[in-house]
Amino acid sequence: MPAPIVIVGAGFSGAVVARELAEAGIASWVVDGRSHVAGNAHTERRSNGVMVHVYGPHIFHTAFENVWKYINKFGDMVPYNHRVKATSGGAVYSLPVNLHTINQFFGKTLSPAEAQQFIAENADSSIDTPVSFEDQALKFVGRELYEAFFKGYTQKQWGVSPTDLPASILARLPVRFSYEDSYFNHPYQAIPRDGYTPIVEAMLDHPLIEVTLNKTVTPEELSDAEHVFWSGPIDEYFKGKFGNLGYRTLDFVESEDTGDFQGCPVMNYCDVDVPYTRITEHKHFAPWESHEGTTLYTEYSRLAEPGDIAYYPIRQVKEKEQLLQYVQAAQEASGVTFMGRLGTYRYLDMDVTIKEALEVAEMFLNCRRDNRPMPPLVVDAL
Ligand code: UDP
Repeated sequence: MPAPIVIVGAGFSGAVVARELAEAGIASWVVDGRSHVAGNAHTERRSNGVMVHVYGPHIFHTAFENVWKYINKFGDMVPYNHRVKATSGGAVYSLPVNLHTINQFFGKTLSPAEAQQFIAENADSSIDTPVSFEDQALKFVGRELYEAFFKGYTQKQWGVSPTDLPASILARLPVRFSYEDSYFNHPYQAIPRDGYTPIVEAMLDHPLIEVTLNKTVTPEELSDAEHVFWSGPIDEYFKGKFGNLGYRTLDFVESEDTGDFQGCPVMNYCDVDVPYTRITEHKHFAPWESHEGTTLYTEYSRLAEPGDIAYYPIRQVKEKEQLLQYVQAAQEASGVTFMGRLGTYRYLDMDVTIKEALEVAEMFLNCRRDNRPMPPLVVDAL
Protein backbone atom coordinates (compact mmCIF):
# COMPACT_ATOMS: atom_id res chain seq x y z
CA MET A 1 0.00 0.00 0.00
CA PRO A 2 1.64 3.23 -1.11
CA ALA A 3 -0.18 5.25 1.62
CA PRO A 4 -2.08 4.30 4.79
CA ILE A 5 -5.20 6.19 3.61
CA VAL A 6 -6.82 4.26 0.77
CA ILE A 7 -9.51 5.62 -1.51
CA VAL A 8 -11.31 2.98 -3.53
CA GLY A 9 -12.69 4.45 -6.74
CA ALA A 10 -11.31 7.29 -8.86
CA GLY A 11 -14.65 8.89 -9.71
CA PHE A 12 -15.73 12.28 -8.42
CA SER A 13 -16.16 11.02 -4.83
CA GLY A 14 -12.69 9.53 -4.58
CA ALA A 15 -10.92 12.32 -6.46
CA VAL A 16 -12.46 15.09 -4.35
CA VAL A 17 -11.60 13.36 -1.06
CA ALA A 18 -8.04 12.64 -2.25
CA ARG A 19 -7.59 16.25 -3.29
CA GLU A 20 -8.96 17.72 -0.06
CA LEU A 21 -6.77 15.44 2.04
CA ALA A 22 -3.74 16.29 -0.08
CA GLU A 23 -4.40 20.01 0.31
CA ALA A 24 -4.36 19.39 4.07
CA GLY A 25 -1.00 17.59 3.80
CA ILE A 26 -2.32 14.01 3.97
CA ALA A 27 -1.15 11.44 1.43
CA SER A 28 -3.54 8.89 -0.04
CA TRP A 29 -3.59 5.98 -2.45
CA VAL A 30 -6.44 6.02 -4.97
CA VAL A 31 -7.14 2.68 -6.58
CA ASP A 32 -9.63 1.89 -9.36
CA GLY A 33 -10.45 -1.30 -11.22
CA ARG A 34 -10.91 0.42 -14.55
CA SER A 35 -8.27 1.70 -16.96
CA HIS A 36 -9.31 5.33 -16.54
CA VAL A 37 -10.32 7.81 -13.84
CA ALA A 38 -13.66 9.70 -13.63
CA GLY A 39 -15.86 6.61 -13.17
CA ASN A 40 -19.02 6.74 -15.23
CA ALA A 41 -18.41 10.41 -16.06
CA HIS A 42 -15.42 9.35 -18.20
CA THR A 43 -15.15 11.04 -21.62
CA GLU A 44 -13.04 10.17 -24.65
CA ARG A 45 -12.53 11.82 -28.02
CA ARG A 46 -13.25 9.48 -30.94
CA SER A 47 -11.17 9.51 -34.15
CA ASN A 48 -13.85 11.68 -35.82
CA GLY A 49 -13.06 14.36 -33.21
CA VAL A 50 -16.31 13.99 -31.25
CA MET A 51 -16.08 13.98 -27.46
CA VAL A 52 -18.02 10.94 -26.27
CA HIS A 53 -19.62 10.52 -22.84
CA VAL A 54 -18.49 6.91 -22.69
CA TYR A 55 -21.01 5.83 -20.03
CA GLY A 56 -23.91 7.90 -21.33
CA PRO A 57 -24.93 11.55 -21.12
CA HIS A 58 -23.44 13.55 -18.25
CA ILE A 59 -24.55 17.16 -17.95
CA PHE A 60 -23.17 19.11 -15.06
CA HIS A 61 -25.89 21.13 -13.32
CA THR A 62 -26.01 22.55 -9.83
CA ALA A 63 -27.41 25.14 -7.49
CA PHE A 64 -24.54 24.69 -5.03
CA GLU A 65 -22.31 27.74 -5.31
CA ASN A 66 -19.38 25.98 -3.59
CA VAL A 67 -19.56 22.98 -5.94
CA TRP A 68 -19.68 25.23 -8.99
CA LYS A 69 -16.61 27.15 -7.79
CA TYR A 70 -14.85 23.91 -6.93
CA ILE A 71 -15.23 22.20 -10.30
CA ASN A 72 -14.19 25.38 -12.08
CA LYS A 73 -10.81 25.20 -10.34
CA PHE A 74 -9.98 22.05 -12.29
CA GLY A 75 -11.12 22.76 -15.82
CA ASP A 76 -12.92 25.06 -18.19
CA MET A 77 -16.69 24.63 -17.81
CA VAL A 78 -18.61 25.94 -20.82
CA PRO A 79 -22.19 27.11 -20.14
CA TYR A 80 -24.59 24.67 -21.78
CA ASN A 81 -28.37 24.45 -21.70
CA HIS A 82 -29.58 20.87 -21.92
CA ARG A 83 -32.72 20.34 -24.01
CA VAL A 84 -34.28 16.96 -24.61
CA LYS A 85 -36.88 15.82 -27.14
CA ALA A 86 -39.13 12.80 -26.87
CA THR A 87 -40.69 10.60 -29.53
CA SER A 88 -44.02 9.15 -28.47
CA GLY A 89 -46.77 7.60 -30.58
CA GLY A 90 -45.16 8.72 -33.84
CA ALA A 91 -44.69 12.40 -32.94
CA VAL A 92 -41.86 14.45 -31.47
CA TYR A 93 -42.42 16.52 -28.34
CA SER A 94 -40.53 18.85 -26.06
CA LEU A 95 -39.40 17.53 -22.65
CA PRO A 96 -39.62 17.97 -19.69
CA VAL A 97 -43.38 18.37 -19.87
CA ASN A 98 -43.93 22.09 -20.49
CA LEU A 99 -46.54 24.33 -22.08
CA HIS A 100 -45.32 23.39 -25.56
CA THR A 101 -45.64 19.65 -24.77
CA ILE A 102 -49.15 20.14 -23.40
CA ASN A 103 -50.32 22.21 -26.37
CA GLN A 104 -48.67 19.87 -28.89
CA PHE A 105 -50.00 16.74 -27.25
CA PHE A 106 -53.59 17.89 -26.80
CA GLY A 107 -53.66 20.00 -30.01
CA LYS A 108 -54.53 23.16 -28.03
CA THR A 109 -53.35 26.75 -27.72
CA LEU A 110 -53.64 27.09 -23.94
CA SER A 111 -52.13 29.96 -22.00
CA PRO A 112 -50.07 29.13 -18.88
CA ALA A 113 -53.07 29.63 -16.57
CA GLU A 114 -55.42 27.68 -18.84
CA ALA A 115 -52.89 24.82 -19.09
CA GLN A 116 -52.52 24.72 -15.33
CA GLN A 117 -56.27 24.45 -14.93
CA PHE A 118 -56.53 21.88 -17.72
CA ILE A 119 -53.84 19.66 -16.17
CA ALA A 120 -55.39 20.06 -12.72
CA GLU A 121 -58.68 18.77 -14.17
CA ASN A 122 -56.86 15.81 -15.77
CA ALA A 123 -54.71 15.02 -12.76
CA ASP A 124 -55.74 12.63 -10.04
CA SER A 125 -56.48 14.90 -7.09
CA SER A 126 -57.41 11.95 -4.87
CA ILE A 127 -53.70 11.14 -4.40
CA ASP A 128 -52.55 13.09 -1.34
CA THR A 129 -49.09 11.74 -0.72
CA PRO A 130 -47.66 10.03 -3.80
CA VAL A 131 -45.65 6.97 -2.84
CA SER A 132 -44.96 5.33 -6.19
CA PHE A 133 -43.68 6.77 -9.45
CA GLU A 134 -47.13 6.18 -10.97
CA ASP A 135 -48.92 8.03 -8.12
CA GLN A 136 -46.56 10.95 -8.58
CA ALA A 137 -47.20 11.09 -12.34
CA LEU A 138 -50.98 10.73 -12.06
CA LYS A 139 -51.10 13.44 -9.42
CA PHE A 140 -48.99 15.93 -11.37
CA VAL A 141 -49.72 15.35 -15.07
CA GLY A 142 -52.69 12.98 -15.28
CA ARG A 143 -53.11 9.67 -17.06
CA GLU A 144 -52.70 10.70 -20.71
CA LEU A 145 -49.36 12.47 -20.35
CA TYR A 146 -48.19 9.77 -17.95
CA GLU A 147 -48.93 7.03 -20.48
CA ALA A 148 -47.40 8.97 -23.39
CA PHE A 149 -44.14 10.04 -21.76
CA PHE A 150 -43.42 8.16 -18.55
CA LYS A 151 -45.02 4.76 -18.35
CA GLY A 152 -43.24 3.02 -21.26
CA TYR A 153 -39.90 4.77 -20.80
CA THR A 154 -39.84 3.98 -17.10
CA GLN A 155 -40.81 0.36 -17.67
CA LYS A 156 -37.89 0.02 -20.12
CA GLN A 157 -35.42 1.98 -17.99
CA TRP A 158 -36.13 0.23 -14.70
CA GLY A 159 -37.52 -3.13 -15.81
CA VAL A 160 -40.36 -2.93 -13.30
CA SER A 161 -43.77 -1.36 -13.22
CA PRO A 162 -43.84 2.35 -12.26
CA THR A 163 -46.19 1.28 -9.46
CA ASP A 164 -43.18 -0.43 -7.84
CA LEU A 165 -40.78 2.50 -8.09
CA PRO A 166 -40.41 5.40 -5.64
CA ALA A 167 -42.00 8.77 -6.45
CA SER A 168 -38.58 10.39 -6.00
CA ILE A 169 -37.43 9.20 -9.45
CA LEU A 170 -40.10 11.26 -11.21
CA ALA A 171 -39.56 14.17 -8.86
CA ARG A 172 -36.22 14.63 -10.70
CA LEU A 173 -38.14 16.04 -13.67
CA PRO A 174 -39.97 19.38 -13.53
CA VAL A 175 -43.42 20.08 -15.04
CA ARG A 176 -43.70 23.63 -16.36
CA PHE A 177 -46.56 25.83 -17.45
CA SER A 178 -44.33 27.99 -19.63
CA TYR A 179 -42.36 27.42 -22.82
CA GLU A 180 -39.14 27.07 -20.84
CA ASP A 181 -37.75 23.76 -22.07
CA SER A 182 -34.43 23.56 -20.28
CA TYR A 183 -34.14 20.03 -18.88
CA PHE A 184 -32.82 21.24 -15.53
CA ASN A 185 -33.85 24.09 -13.24
CA HIS A 186 -30.39 24.71 -11.83
CA PRO A 187 -28.67 28.10 -12.26
CA TYR A 188 -25.32 26.57 -13.26
CA GLN A 189 -25.35 24.18 -16.20
CA ALA A 190 -22.21 23.36 -18.12
CA ILE A 191 -20.11 20.81 -19.97
CA PRO A 192 -16.34 20.73 -19.51
CA ARG A 193 -14.54 21.97 -22.65
CA ASP A 194 -12.08 19.06 -22.60
CA GLY A 195 -14.37 16.45 -21.07
CA TYR A 196 -14.76 15.20 -17.49
CA THR A 197 -11.72 12.95 -17.40
CA PRO A 198 -9.13 15.79 -17.51
CA ILE A 199 -11.03 17.47 -14.65
CA VAL A 200 -10.73 14.40 -12.46
CA GLU A 201 -7.11 13.95 -13.56
CA ALA A 202 -6.42 17.54 -12.50
CA MET A 203 -8.00 16.86 -9.09
CA LEU A 204 -5.74 13.83 -8.67
CA ASP A 205 -2.64 15.61 -9.93
CA HIS A 206 -0.93 16.28 -6.60
CA PRO A 207 2.35 14.99 -5.16
CA LEU A 208 0.51 13.52 -2.15
CA ILE A 209 -1.85 11.43 -4.31
CA GLU A 210 -0.83 8.14 -5.86
CA VAL A 211 -3.25 6.62 -8.36
CA THR A 212 -3.28 2.96 -9.40
CA LEU A 213 -5.60 1.94 -12.23
CA ASN A 214 -6.63 -1.52 -13.48
CA LYS A 215 -6.56 -2.87 -9.95
CA THR A 216 -9.44 -4.18 -7.89
CA VAL A 217 -8.95 -4.44 -4.16
CA THR A 218 -10.87 -6.29 -1.49
CA PRO A 219 -11.45 -5.02 2.04
CA GLU A 220 -9.20 -7.84 3.35
CA GLU A 221 -6.30 -6.59 1.26
CA LEU A 222 -6.77 -3.19 2.88
CA SER A 223 -6.88 -4.42 6.47
CA ASP A 224 -3.64 -2.59 7.29
CA ALA A 225 -4.98 0.74 6.05
CA GLU A 226 -5.41 3.52 8.57
CA HIS A 227 -8.66 4.46 6.84
CA VAL A 228 -10.53 3.37 3.70
CA PHE A 229 -12.90 5.56 1.69
CA TRP A 230 -15.06 3.13 -0.28
CA SER A 231 -16.96 4.43 -3.31
CA GLY A 232 -17.59 0.99 -4.81
CA PRO A 233 -20.89 -0.82 -4.22
CA ILE A 234 -21.67 -1.13 -0.50
CA ASP A 235 -22.87 -4.73 -1.00
CA GLU A 236 -19.56 -5.63 -2.69
CA TYR A 237 -17.65 -4.43 0.39
CA PHE A 238 -19.65 -6.87 2.53
CA LYS A 239 -19.38 -9.68 -0.09
CA GLY A 240 -23.12 -9.58 -0.72
CA LYS A 241 -23.80 -11.22 2.64
CA PHE A 242 -27.36 -9.84 2.79
CA GLY A 243 -27.95 -10.57 -0.91
CA ASN A 244 -26.92 -8.53 -3.92
CA LEU A 245 -28.52 -5.11 -4.22
CA GLY A 246 -30.24 -4.51 -7.57
CA TYR A 247 -28.65 -2.19 -10.12
CA ARG A 248 -29.57 -1.33 -13.68
CA THR A 249 -26.81 -1.39 -16.23
CA LEU A 250 -26.80 0.12 -19.71
CA ASP A 251 -25.70 -1.23 -23.08
CA PHE A 252 -24.75 1.34 -25.68
CA VAL A 253 -24.71 0.46 -29.35
CA GLU A 254 -22.25 2.93 -30.83
CA SER A 255 -22.48 4.01 -34.46
CA GLU A 256 -20.94 6.67 -36.65
CA ASP A 257 -22.42 8.79 -39.36
CA THR A 258 -21.84 12.16 -40.96
CA GLY A 259 -23.76 15.40 -40.64
CA ASP A 260 -26.53 15.81 -38.11
CA PHE A 261 -28.45 12.65 -37.24
CA GLN A 262 -31.19 13.96 -34.94
CA GLY A 263 -30.61 17.68 -34.39
CA CYS A 264 -30.46 17.42 -30.60
CA PRO A 265 -28.22 15.77 -28.00
CA VAL A 266 -30.79 13.35 -26.56
CA MET A 267 -33.95 11.93 -28.09
CA ASN A 268 -36.00 9.81 -25.71
CA TYR A 269 -38.17 7.01 -27.06
CA CYS A 270 -41.13 6.70 -24.75
CA ASP A 271 -43.07 3.88 -26.43
CA VAL A 272 -42.68 0.52 -24.73
CA ASP A 273 -42.45 -1.33 -28.06
CA VAL A 274 -39.27 0.55 -29.08
CA PRO A 275 -36.60 -1.55 -27.34
CA TYR A 276 -34.16 1.26 -26.55
CA THR A 277 -34.76 4.20 -24.19
CA ARG A 278 -32.88 6.99 -25.94
CA ILE A 279 -30.38 7.96 -28.62
CA THR A 280 -27.56 10.30 -27.70
CA GLU A 281 -25.75 12.30 -30.39
CA HIS A 282 -22.64 13.33 -28.53
CA LYS A 283 -21.43 16.24 -30.63
CA HIS A 284 -24.46 18.27 -29.56
CA PHE A 285 -23.01 18.36 -26.03
CA ALA A 286 -20.25 20.58 -27.42
CA PRO A 287 -22.05 23.13 -29.64
CA TRP A 288 -18.88 25.25 -29.65
CA GLU A 289 -17.10 22.55 -31.68
CA SER A 290 -17.80 21.61 -35.27
CA HIS A 291 -17.40 18.12 -36.70
CA GLU A 292 -18.26 16.58 -40.03
CA GLY A 293 -18.70 13.17 -38.43
CA THR A 294 -21.13 12.25 -35.67
CA THR A 295 -21.16 9.54 -33.01
CA LEU A 296 -24.39 8.02 -31.74
CA TYR A 297 -25.26 5.88 -28.77
CA THR A 298 -28.45 3.85 -28.83
CA GLU A 299 -29.13 3.06 -25.18
CA TYR A 300 -30.64 -0.11 -23.76
CA SER A 301 -31.23 -0.72 -20.08
CA ARG A 302 -31.21 -4.07 -18.28
CA LEU A 303 -30.69 -5.62 -14.86
CA ALA A 304 -26.98 -5.67 -13.96
CA GLU A 305 -25.48 -9.17 -13.70
CA PRO A 306 -22.28 -9.90 -11.74
CA GLY A 307 -19.40 -8.23 -13.57
CA ASP A 308 -21.58 -5.59 -15.28
CA ILE A 309 -21.02 -1.91 -14.58
CA ALA A 310 -23.63 -0.62 -12.14
CA TYR A 311 -25.34 2.61 -13.26
CA TYR A 312 -28.57 3.02 -11.32
CA PRO A 313 -29.48 1.69 -7.85
CA ILE A 314 -33.03 0.33 -8.22
CA ARG A 315 -34.12 0.90 -4.60
CA GLN A 316 -37.31 -1.11 -4.72
CA VAL A 317 -38.81 -2.10 -1.38
CA LYS A 318 -36.86 -5.39 -1.42
CA GLU A 319 -33.55 -3.60 -1.96
CA LYS A 320 -34.32 -1.00 0.68
CA GLU A 321 -34.75 -3.79 3.22
CA GLN A 322 -31.37 -5.22 2.23
CA LEU A 323 -29.87 -1.76 2.25
CA LEU A 324 -31.00 -1.34 5.84
CA GLN A 325 -28.97 -4.42 6.74
CA TYR A 326 -25.93 -3.13 4.86
CA VAL A 327 -26.28 0.26 6.54
CA GLN A 328 -26.35 -1.45 9.94
CA ALA A 329 -23.24 -3.44 9.02
CA ALA A 330 -21.59 -0.21 7.89
CA GLN A 331 -22.49 1.50 11.17
CA GLU A 332 -20.74 -1.30 13.03
CA ALA A 333 -17.65 -1.21 10.80
CA SER A 334 -14.72 0.96 11.71
CA GLY A 335 -11.96 2.49 9.63
CA VAL A 336 -14.13 2.74 6.52
CA THR A 337 -16.33 5.47 5.08
CA PHE A 338 -18.88 4.75 2.35
CA MET A 339 -19.59 7.42 -0.22
CA GLY A 340 -20.91 8.15 -3.69
CA ARG A 341 -23.68 6.66 -5.82
CA LEU A 342 -22.59 3.06 -5.27
CA GLY A 343 -21.16 3.37 -1.76
CA THR A 344 -24.47 4.74 -0.47
CA TYR A 345 -26.77 3.13 -3.08
CA ARG A 346 -28.50 6.37 -4.05
CA TYR A 347 -29.38 7.97 -7.43
CA LEU A 348 -26.92 10.86 -7.08
CA ASP A 349 -26.06 13.52 -9.62
CA MET A 350 -22.46 14.68 -10.07
CA ASP A 351 -22.93 17.90 -8.12
CA VAL A 352 -24.38 16.16 -5.06
CA THR A 353 -21.57 13.62 -5.24
CA ILE A 354 -18.98 16.41 -5.17
CA LYS A 355 -20.80 18.27 -2.39
CA GLU A 356 -20.95 15.17 -0.21
CA ALA A 357 -17.33 14.26 -0.93
CA LEU A 358 -16.29 17.74 0.23
CA GLU A 359 -18.29 17.16 3.43
CA VAL A 360 -16.77 13.70 3.93
CA ALA A 361 -13.26 15.14 3.57
CA GLU A 362 -14.00 17.98 5.96
CA MET A 363 -15.40 15.61 8.54
CA PHE A 364 -12.39 13.33 8.21
CA LEU A 365 -10.01 16.23 8.73
CA ASN A 366 -12.00 17.47 11.75
CA CYS A 367 -12.14 14.00 13.31
CA ARG A 368 -8.43 13.54 12.81
CA ARG A 369 -7.67 16.91 14.34
CA ASP A 370 -9.90 16.13 17.37
CA ASN A 371 -8.74 12.51 17.59
CA ARG A 372 -12.30 11.19 17.09
CA PRO A 373 -13.28 8.15 14.98
CA MET A 374 -14.68 8.93 11.56
CA PRO A 375 -18.30 7.70 11.10
CA PRO A 376 -18.69 5.14 8.29
CA LEU A 377 -21.74 6.86 6.79
CA VAL A 378 -21.74 10.62 6.73
CA VAL A 379 -24.98 10.78 4.75
CA ASP A 380 -28.21 8.93 5.39
CA ALA A 381 -28.14 6.15 2.81
CA LEU A 382 -31.75 5.23 3.51
N1 UDP B 1 -38.42 9.49 -17.52
C1 UDP B 1 -39.49 9.10 -18.30
N2 UDP B 1 -39.58 9.55 -19.58
C2 UDP B 1 -38.63 10.33 -20.14
C3 UDP B 1 -37.54 10.75 -19.35
C4 UDP B 1 -37.45 10.30 -18.04
O1 UDP B 1 -40.35 8.35 -17.86
O2 UDP B 1 -38.76 10.67 -21.34
C5 UDP B 1 -38.36 9.00 -16.13
C6 UDP B 1 -37.60 7.66 -16.09
O3 UDP B 1 -38.17 6.85 -15.08
C7 UDP B 1 -36.21 8.09 -15.72
C8 UDP B 1 -36.49 9.22 -14.75
O4 UDP B 1 -37.64 9.89 -15.30
O5 UDP B 1 -35.47 7.04 -15.15
C9 UDP B 1 -35.34 10.20 -14.54
O6 UDP B 1 -34.96 10.75 -15.78
P1 UDP B 1 -33.53 11.41 -16.02
O7 UDP B 1 -33.56 12.08 -17.35
O8 UDP B 1 -33.18 12.24 -14.82
O9 UDP B 1 -32.60 10.11 -16.10
P2 UDP B 1 -31.00 9.93 -16.31
O10 UDP B 1 -30.54 10.89 -17.36
O11 UDP B 1 -30.38 10.09 -14.95
O12 UDP B 1 -30.95 8.50 -16.80
